Amino acid sequence: MTQEKIKEAASLALTRYLTDHGMRKTPERYTILNHIFSLQGHFTIQALHSHIEDTGYHLSRTTLFNTVALLVAAGLVRRHTFATETPRYERIIGLPHHHHLICTNCGKIREVKDSALDEILSQRRYGKFSPSQIDINIYGLCATCQRRSKSSLRTSK
Ligand SMILES: [Zn+2]
Ligand SMILES: [Zn+2]
Repeated sequence: MTQEKIKEAASLALTRYLTDHGMRKTPERYTILNHIFSLQGHFTIQALHSHIEDTGYHLSRTTLFNTVALLVAAGLVRRHTFATETPRYERIIGLPHHHHLICTNCGKIREVKDSALDEILSQRRYGKFSPSQIDINIYGLCATCQRRSKSSLRTSK
């Protein structure tokens, strides 16, 4: 899917969601969606706010916060709370399914694709629960932080 096709699909999905829920199709909602689908990777509300303000479009952080929450509810955006840091978001449509490796020392996030794991997870059943999305977050130390902690051990001896 091209970037434009992805944006179109997202916009259609938002229209469907707003119609189904009897919600207003305000221009801000579509503007915010468009910006989200222009961003690469994970973003915080703060970063999204600056990205939008940089284009000369003004909106309150409350509007932005509420709209992003709506997009999460609509299944268009994922909300992550990696460890204890500020929530980060990412678009769903047009991104390959992936899991996250989170470094608990520097906060670096790496995305990994694991189709073998996805295959297993897609066949798992947990009683009558009907899963719509599965995210695996793996916490640990990235290669850089492991190297740093090893070298600091050496110098302290
Ligand atoms: Zn690290
Ligand atoms: Zn991701």
